[in-house]
Amino acid sequence: MKLFAVIGWGIRNKSASPAMHNASFRRKGFDAYYMAFDVPKGSLGCFTDLARFNLAGFNVTIPHKEEVLKYLDGAAADARAIGAVNTVKVERNLLVGYNTDYLAVYRLAGAHMAGAEVLVLGAGGAARAAAYAAVKAGAARITLANRTRERAEALARELAQKLGVEARGAGLGEAVRADVIINATPVWDTPLVDLRGARAYVEFVYNPPETALLREAKRLGLAVVDGIDILVEQGAAAEEIWGLEPDRTTMRRAAAEFLARPPG
Ligand code: NAP
Repeated sequence: MKLFAVIGWGIRNKSASPAMHNASFRRKGFDAYYMAFDVPKGSLGCFTDLARFNLAGFNVTIPHKEEVLKYLDGAAADARAIGAVNTVKVERNLLVGYNTDYLAVYRLAGAHMAGAEVLVLGAGGAARAAAYAAVKAGAARITLANRTRERAEALARELAQKLGVEARGAGLGEAVRADVIINATPVWDTPLVDLRGARAYVEFVYNPPETALLREAKRLGLAVVDGIDILVEQGAAAEEIWGLEPDRTTMRRAAAEFLARPPG
């Protein structure tokens, strides 16, 4: 049996990934099992040593996506450019990192971002992946708006220097015109920006599945990619990297059922 896992902190019994991947494995008849592990910040090296000899692959979530790069034997160019890894493949005891958060945004919203003004809310790992997807899709200009303005400005400078794109940082409250708006913060209950004038909205938050901005985007008739769409696509892309054939319909149903379960 092949073993897979997701690592993070505070995720055991909370992450939807085990339900989603195990349902996909069962549907496809793969002899594989997926678990969730809480790994403390100082113990990443212990976990990667264990993974090297026991797992076929693993996902990485908050707070380890950037730190894990130090413990890998290699990483795809995309993951290195983003500076964050959410998927690791184990092959002959070697660990290779990938970023499928970016792939999910690129695949699901790339068509809307070509030649567009893109506004990314946030400056953390998800925002890095979203901004990189916008670059890959050929966005005309990227604005990063973050609660801590300096972080947005630093990330915009990094994108401009590394990738040669037009990017700028802003504070969260500033009015910014955009064709495509991506929420890469965990904020779900407050409409952080005015969506009028945009044509597409991408939401990273999947718990709860309906956020204030997502509701507003639907009311305004924008094209919408929701947090479960991203969750399923990043997971499907991870299964492809692990050499499996993801069943997206089964994954979506399992994730939605997991998120709808009573707490506890
Ligand atoms: P992160 O690295 O911790 O970054 C969080 C970002 O959100 C930072 O820019 C932070 O601003 C901002 N933020 C946090 N709390 C805020 C608040 N109360 N008001 C305004 N801004 C706030 O986290 P991440 O990895 O980027 O993840 C962001 C969200 O995306 C999480 O909810 C995560 O679960 C979700 N996500 C979903 C998927 C999916 O598959 N659907 C994939 C990846 C991530 P400061 O810089 O000021 O702290």
